[in-house]
Amino acid sequence: MSFQLGSIDRTFRDELEMTCNVDLDQCYECGKCTGGCSTTYIMDYTPRKIVQLIKIGAVKTLLSCNTPWICVTCRLCADRCPAGIDIPRIMDYLKEKALATKDFGPGVDNVILFHKLLLEEVYRRGRISETALALKFNLRTGQYFKDAGLGRKLLGKGKISPLSPRVRDLDKVRSFFKQLSDRGEG
Ligand code: SF4
Ligand code: SF4
Repeated sequence: MSFQLGSIDRTFRDELEMTCNVDLDQCYECGKCTGGCSTTYIMDYTPRKIVQLIKIGAVKTLLSCNTPWICVTCRLCADRCPAGIDIPRIMDYLKEKALATKDFGPGVDNVILFHKLLLEEVYRRGRISETALALKFNLRTGQYFKDAGLGRKLLGKGKISPLSPRVRDLDKVRSFFKQLSDRGEG
Protein backbone atom coordinates (compact mmCIF):
# COMPACT_ATOMS: atom_id res chain seq x y z
CA MET A 1 0.00 0.00 0.00
CA SER A 2 1.63 3.28 -1.04
CA PHE A 3 0.40 6.76 -0.15
CA GLN A 4 1.62 10.32 0.28
CA LEU A 5 1.14 12.03 3.62
CA GLY A 6 -0.19 15.20 2.05
CA SER A 7 -2.84 13.35 0.04
CA ILE A 8 -4.51 11.54 2.94
CA ASP A 9 -8.24 12.21 3.19
CA ARG A 10 -8.99 12.83 6.88
CA THR A 11 -12.79 12.74 6.59
CA PHE A 12 -13.19 9.19 7.90
CA ARG A 13 -10.60 9.65 10.65
CA ASP A 14 -12.11 12.93 11.86
CA GLU A 15 -15.61 11.46 12.08
CA LEU A 16 -14.30 8.36 13.86
CA GLU A 17 -12.27 10.38 16.37
CA MET A 18 -15.24 12.58 17.18
CA THR A 19 -17.73 9.70 17.49
CA CYS A 20 -15.40 7.49 19.54
CA ASN A 21 -13.94 10.36 21.55
CA VAL A 22 -10.34 9.37 20.73
CA ASP A 23 -7.27 11.30 19.57
CA LEU A 24 -5.13 9.05 17.40
CA ASP A 25 -2.27 11.56 17.40
CA GLN A 26 -1.69 10.37 20.97
CA CYS A 27 -0.88 6.81 19.79
CA TYR A 28 2.81 6.03 20.41
CA GLU A 29 2.63 2.87 18.29
CA CYS A 30 3.98 1.06 21.33
CA GLY A 31 1.96 -2.08 20.52
CA LYS A 32 0.77 -2.69 24.09
CA CYS A 33 -2.78 -3.04 22.74
CA THR A 34 -1.73 -5.81 20.36
CA GLY A 35 0.49 -7.46 22.97
CA GLY A 36 -2.47 -7.91 25.30
CA CYS A 37 -5.05 -9.01 22.74
CA SER A 38 -5.86 -12.72 22.85
CA THR A 39 -7.45 -12.88 19.39
CA THR A 40 -4.81 -11.31 17.13
CA TYR A 41 -3.83 -14.71 15.78
CA ILE A 42 -7.02 -14.81 13.70
CA MET A 43 -7.29 -11.09 12.94
CA ASP A 44 -6.45 -9.70 9.49
CA TYR A 45 -4.84 -6.70 11.24
CA THR A 46 -3.78 -6.25 14.84
CA PRO A 47 -5.30 -3.43 16.94
CA ARG A 48 -2.11 -1.35 16.53
CA LYS A 49 -2.29 -1.76 12.77
CA ILE A 50 -5.96 -0.77 12.80
CA VAL A 51 -4.96 2.56 14.35
CA GLN A 52 -2.32 3.01 11.63
CA LEU A 53 -4.81 2.14 8.88
CA ILE A 54 -7.19 4.80 10.20
CA LYS A 55 -4.37 7.33 10.17
CA ILE A 56 -3.56 6.66 6.52
CA GLY A 57 -7.23 6.70 5.53
CA ALA A 58 -7.41 3.08 4.35
CA VAL A 59 -11.19 3.01 4.68
CA LYS A 60 -11.91 0.14 2.31
CA THR A 61 -9.38 -2.09 4.05
CA LEU A 62 -10.75 -1.16 7.47
CA LEU A 63 -14.36 -1.91 6.57
CA SER A 64 -13.67 -5.17 4.78
CA CYS A 65 -11.20 -6.75 7.22
CA ASN A 66 -12.30 -9.24 9.82
CA THR A 67 -10.61 -7.59 12.82
CA PRO A 68 -13.58 -5.64 14.25
CA TRP A 69 -15.72 -8.79 14.04
CA ILE A 70 -13.11 -10.92 15.77
CA CYS A 71 -12.68 -8.45 18.66
CA VAL A 72 -14.48 -9.79 21.73
CA THR A 73 -14.63 -6.38 23.47
CA CYS A 74 -12.66 -7.62 26.47
CA ARG A 75 -11.22 -4.08 26.77
CA LEU A 76 -7.75 -5.29 27.72
CA CYS A 77 -6.19 -3.15 24.98
CA ALA A 78 -7.97 -0.05 26.28
CA ASP A 79 -6.80 -0.78 29.83
CA ARG A 80 -3.20 -1.22 28.65
CA CYS A 81 -3.06 1.76 26.29
CA PRO A 82 -0.88 4.54 27.79
CA ALA A 83 -2.61 7.05 25.51
CA GLY A 84 -6.14 6.16 26.65
CA ILE A 85 -7.28 5.14 23.17
CA ASP A 86 -10.58 3.27 23.34
CA ILE A 87 -9.90 0.59 20.71
CA PRO A 88 -13.04 -1.51 21.45
CA ARG A 89 -15.13 1.59 20.74
CA ILE A 90 -13.24 2.00 17.46
CA MET A 91 -13.99 -1.65 16.61
CA ASP A 92 -17.71 -1.03 17.26
CA TYR A 93 -17.58 2.05 15.05
CA LEU A 94 -15.98 0.09 12.21
CA LYS A 95 -18.67 -2.60 12.51
CA GLU A 96 -21.44 0.01 12.42
CA LYS A 97 -19.88 1.60 9.34
CA ALA A 98 -19.34 -1.72 7.56
CA LEU A 99 -22.96 -2.68 8.21
CA ALA A 100 -24.25 0.69 7.04
CA THR A 101 -22.22 0.63 3.82
CA LYS A 102 -22.45 -3.18 3.36
CA ASP A 103 -18.70 -3.05 2.74
CA PHE A 104 -17.83 -5.98 4.97
CA GLY A 105 -15.61 -8.66 3.52
CA PRO A 106 -16.33 -12.29 2.65
CA GLY A 107 -16.59 -14.61 5.63
CA VAL A 108 -18.15 -11.94 7.84
CA ASP A 109 -21.75 -12.88 6.92
CA ASN A 110 -21.95 -15.61 9.54
CA VAL A 111 -20.54 -13.31 12.21
CA ILE A 112 -23.24 -10.77 11.39
CA LEU A 113 -25.92 -13.48 11.50
CA PHE A 114 -24.60 -14.55 14.91
CA HIS A 115 -24.76 -10.96 16.18
CA LYS A 116 -28.37 -10.62 14.98
CA LEU A 117 -29.47 -13.90 16.54
CA LEU A 118 -27.73 -12.99 19.79
CA LEU A 119 -29.56 -9.67 19.97
CA GLU A 120 -32.87 -11.38 19.14
CA GLU A 121 -32.26 -13.71 22.09
CA VAL A 122 -31.56 -10.80 24.41
CA TYR A 123 -34.71 -9.02 23.17
CA ARG A 124 -36.90 -12.09 23.64
CA ARG A 125 -35.57 -13.25 26.99
CA GLY A 126 -33.45 -10.46 28.43
CA ARG A 127 -30.52 -12.88 28.46
CA ILE A 128 -28.81 -15.37 26.21
CA SER A 129 -29.75 -19.01 26.07
CA GLU A 130 -26.60 -20.72 24.75
CA THR A 131 -28.55 -23.80 23.66
CA ALA A 132 -31.19 -21.87 21.70
CA LEU A 133 -28.59 -19.56 20.18
CA ALA A 134 -26.33 -22.40 19.02
CA LEU A 135 -29.30 -24.36 17.61
CA LYS A 136 -30.66 -21.37 15.70
CA PHE A 137 -27.24 -20.45 14.32
CA ASN A 138 -26.46 -23.97 13.19
CA LEU A 139 -29.89 -24.39 11.57
CA ARG A 140 -29.64 -21.05 9.74
CA THR A 141 -26.16 -21.89 8.43
CA GLY A 142 -27.04 -25.44 7.40
CA GLN A 143 -24.66 -27.02 9.91
CA TYR A 144 -27.39 -29.19 11.42
CA PHE A 145 -25.24 -31.49 13.54
CA LYS A 146 -22.39 -29.11 14.35
CA ASP A 147 -21.72 -28.92 18.11
CA ALA A 148 -24.15 -31.81 18.75
CA GLY A 149 -21.50 -33.89 20.52
CA LEU A 150 -20.18 -30.95 22.52
CA GLY A 151 -23.74 -29.85 23.37
CA ARG A 152 -24.59 -33.29 24.73
CA LYS A 153 -21.49 -33.23 26.96
CA LEU A 154 -22.21 -29.74 28.26
CA LEU A 155 -25.84 -30.63 28.92
CA GLY A 156 -24.76 -33.78 30.73
CA LYS A 157 -22.44 -31.78 33.00
CA GLY A 158 -25.08 -29.12 33.62
CA LYS A 159 -22.95 -26.41 32.00
CA ILE A 160 -25.78 -25.38 29.68
CA SER A 161 -29.52 -25.76 30.09
CA PRO A 162 -32.17 -26.94 27.59
CA LEU A 163 -34.51 -24.39 29.19
CA SER A 164 -34.48 -20.74 28.21
CA PRO A 165 -35.56 -18.72 31.25
CA ARG A 166 -36.38 -15.03 30.94
CA VAL A 167 -35.22 -12.25 33.20
CA ARG A 168 -37.91 -10.91 35.53
CA ASP A 169 -37.97 -7.34 34.29
CA LEU A 170 -38.04 -7.94 30.55
CA ASP A 171 -39.70 -4.57 29.90
CA LYS A 172 -36.62 -2.80 31.22
CA VAL A 173 -34.36 -4.70 28.79
CA ARG A 174 -36.70 -3.93 25.90
CA SER A 175 -36.73 -0.26 26.83
CA PHE A 176 -32.94 -0.21 26.11
CA PHE A 177 -33.65 -1.52 22.61
CA LYS A 178 -36.33 1.13 22.16
CA GLN A 179 -33.96 3.88 23.31
CA LEU A 180 -31.37 2.73 20.78
CA SER A 181 -33.98 2.48 18.05
CA ASP A 182 -35.27 6.01 18.86
CA ARG A 183 -31.69 7.27 18.56
CA GLY A 184 -31.37 5.50 15.21
CA GLU A 185 -28.75 3.09 16.62
CA GLY A 186 -30.85 -0.05 16.88
S1 SF4 B 1 -1.44 0.72 23.16
FE1 SF4 B 1 -2.33 2.71 22.61
S2 SF4 B 1 -0.54 3.98 22.19
FE2 SF4 B 1 0.18 1.85 22.13
S3 SF4 B 1 -0.02 1.23 19.95
FE3 SF4 B 1 -1.91 0.65 20.97
S4 SF4 B 1 -3.31 2.40 20.60
FE4 SF4 B 1 -1.21 3.12 20.23
S1 SF4 C 1 -11.07 -5.39 23.17
FE1 SF4 C 1 -10.81 -6.44 21.19
S2 SF4 C 1 -8.94 -5.60 20.29
FE2 SF4 C 1 -8.95 -5.10 22.49
S3 SF4 C 1 -7.78 -6.72 23.50
FE3 SF4 C 1 -9.95 -7.31 23.58
S4 SF4 C 1 -10.30 -8.55 21.73
FE4 SF4 C 1 -8.36 -7.46 21.44
